[in-house]
Amino acid sequence: MNNKYKILVVEDESNIRNLVSAMLESNGYRALLAASLREAKLMYDSHVPDLVILDLGLPDADGCDFIKYVRGSSPTPLTPIIVLSARSNERDKVISLDLGANDYVTKPFGEAELLARVRASLRNHRHSADSGKLPGGKFELNGLEIDYDARRIFLCSEEIKLTQTEYNILAFLSEHCGKMLTYSAIIKAVWGERCEDSSVKKLQVNMANIRKKLGIKPGETKYIINELGVGYRMDG
Ligand code: CA
Repeated sequence: MNNKYKILVVEDESNIRNLVSAMLESNGYRALLAASLREAKLMYDSHVPDLVILDLGLPDADGCDFIKYVRGSSPTPLTPIIVLSARSNERDKVISLDLGANDYVTKPFGEAELLARVRASLRNHRHSADSGKLPGGKFELNGLEIDYDARRIFLCSEEIKLTQTEYNILAFLSEHCGKMLTYSAIIKAVWGERCEDSSVKKLQVNMANIRKKLGIKPGETKYIINELGVGYRMDG
């Protein structure tokens, strides 16, 4: 089979590398392996993978350098990157997301979680490739519909009335559906402001209103997933 998605796994710990590789291979993906930044660049340039799973702690460099390389100087700068991060290291997550990683998975992780993130990132990438940056069009996710031309939102065909700001937040999340967006990325896109405590608070208040209007109960992970201290992701 030549039409399998190629996923580059960059991880210096061989047990994790082999585990991730086995998970991917048994689910119909082709895993390419690298144990250092040097190997990762070689594999990336010669195989042009569809997605990268990246450990941040590499022996010869910080994994963030690889994100910079892919986003900055590689021929395929939009390739989705999922970061493998140590538990509760919020700073690393935010830095890697702001450098352009699509998402992160916290170690230790389960097969179902990793595969869900892989599918979401591949789906998001296809969606962006299809729609490009053209205005207009529609977005649809499990009964949630956004009409970008009319700036209107529908839930199961019923219109939901949002304020301008609420609409801008939801539209921004939908344009990056499946991607984890940091507070600062959303704040910059919606208000053009730097991320400060007051702007995070403002974002959280708006997000609470959006969730209420969409009928999402507290703690429910539907449409909008909140990663505390990091940001938000839209997903089914
Ligand atoms: Ca490591």
